[in-house]
Amino acid sequence: MKIAMTGVSGEMGREVLAFTLTLPFVSKVKVLFTKKKRNVSFARRLKRRYRDRLEAAFGNVSGKEDCARLIEGCDYVVHMAGVIPPLSDERPDLSEEVNLRGTMAMTDAVCEATPQPALIHISSVAVYGNRTMRHPFGRVGDPLLVSAFEAYDRDKLKAERYILDAPLERFVILRQTAMLHPRILQKNMSDSLMFRIVLDAPLEWVSARDTGRLFAHLFEREERGELGSFWNNVYNVGGGERGRASGYETLADGMSLIGRKPEAYFRPDWFLTRNFHGMWFADGDELERFFSFQRDGVRDYWREIGKKHPIYSLGRVVPAKLVYFCLFRRLLKQEGSPKRWIERGDKARLQAYFGGKEGVDSLPASWEETDLAAKRSDYAARKRGEGAALLSHGFDDSKPMSKWTIDDARSAARFRGGECLSANMSDVRDLLSWLCAEGHTFSASALTVMRAGHWCPICGYPDPWRYDALAKRNPFYAQVWYDSHGKEENYRYELHGEHAVMKEEKER
Ligand SMILES: [Zn+2]
Repeated sequence: MKIAMTGVSGEMGREVLAFTLTLPFVSKVKVLFTKKKRNVSFARRLKRRYRDRLEAAFGNVSGKEDCARLIEGCDYVVHMAGVIPPLSDERPDLSEEVNLRGTMAMTDAVCEATPQPALIHISSVAVYGNRTMRHPFGRVGDPLLVSAFEAYDRDKLKAERYILDAPLERFVILRQTAMLHPRILQKNMSDSLMFRIVLDAPLEWVSARDTGRLFAHLFEREERGELGSFWNNVYNVGGGERGRASGYETLADGMSLIGRKPEAYFRPDWFLTRNFHGMWFADGDELERFFSFQRDGVRDYWREIGKKHPIYSLGRVVPAKLVYFCLFRRLLKQEGSPKRWIERGDKARLQAYFGGKEGVDSLPASWEETDLAAKRSDYAARKRGEGAALLSHGFDDSKPMSKWTIDDARSAARFRGGECLSANMSDVRDLLSWLCAEGHTFSASALTVMRAGHWCPICGYPDPWRYDALAKRNPFYAQVWYDSHGKEENYRYELHGEHAVMKEEKER
């Protein structure tokens, strides 16, 4: 088995590569690196370790020729290359170049290869957009309402659509949730991104190691020819029940390594109240049933990180005030910090991330005033999924995909305020014709719309972000959009470079 990979220098990529190369039947892994000094020495280290089983190439993931050279002779392509926040915020152009154009180039290269390798594309939980404790559980098929001004989320969403529309023989899209890795604390504590979370939002974690294990088990089962029903589909990659947390709990887990509760270091009004991304996966077991990879609980993993970095425990003897002065005060002053947006009066960001002036004015001034699901008595039961309300997909999706009919497609379209114009559907990958509530006609498969949750490519993908307007005529969007937005809100958000712009939407 020969496998091509991009993005192996990232936290996920390192684990996936290491796990894959433990498999005796994998004769070669070809990896593509961007030409950087750091990557050259990393490639050299890999080469020393894996010798002929590893082939390193340098090139550009958004160049189709480089992708074609990489995948030549390979049976599988694992496309993990990505530009993630905070870099994608500082360089939205680079996010588009790598996250979108890179995926397009790779998809084109795969489509043009004979025979085609199978494409495994790493997407993100970010495509679902903001979730609250009203609907903390989500699944594949839920609306894709990416958070305003987030270039990474925007480009991951569009990249998925490109793959779904492409003539690929075998592909899978894996929507990866937030990932715990050994360097998470030092990475997060060096950037104001750490304040860009919603304290009372659901977040599911998976460890980088479990993600690596998933791939090892995937290739093992594939080698045994057991994975026919797995391909040409979309899945959520999560950590399961033991990976579920909230924004607040995540802070608490991280800070516990330093020795104190979040209350000792932070104020609740330093954090966002919406326009974030994260959810608990109601369907995480779909992938777990295939690959049995969820071993690390979030708590255990944090403890393991603590053991690897005993230096953090010094925080126990350092006064919390000193930690603030040495560390957090500087981060709060960075341009990406929500506190900085408030000080600057960044109208567009305050609307998107807080619901405007009113939202900012009602931020809790103390921890006592902060309402957190994690502190209520029913929280453990909620995390187990007791009484969880799932979003509707507008048709009976309890049936297996192979049983979906054109009537199901029509029902799904009506729930989106539109219509399915096609007369027949024999396969979920058949292209059907659809009409959205804004009057656009487009073609897409049932797999794209009804399984993956995508909809109109003309109005549904930012830039601009127009979900305030779209939700008014689309019940599928409305069922979750108004969990964290007011019905009177009517804004369109645009990203001009790294500048955030907000405009009043014109009534139709
Ligand atoms: Zn449309």
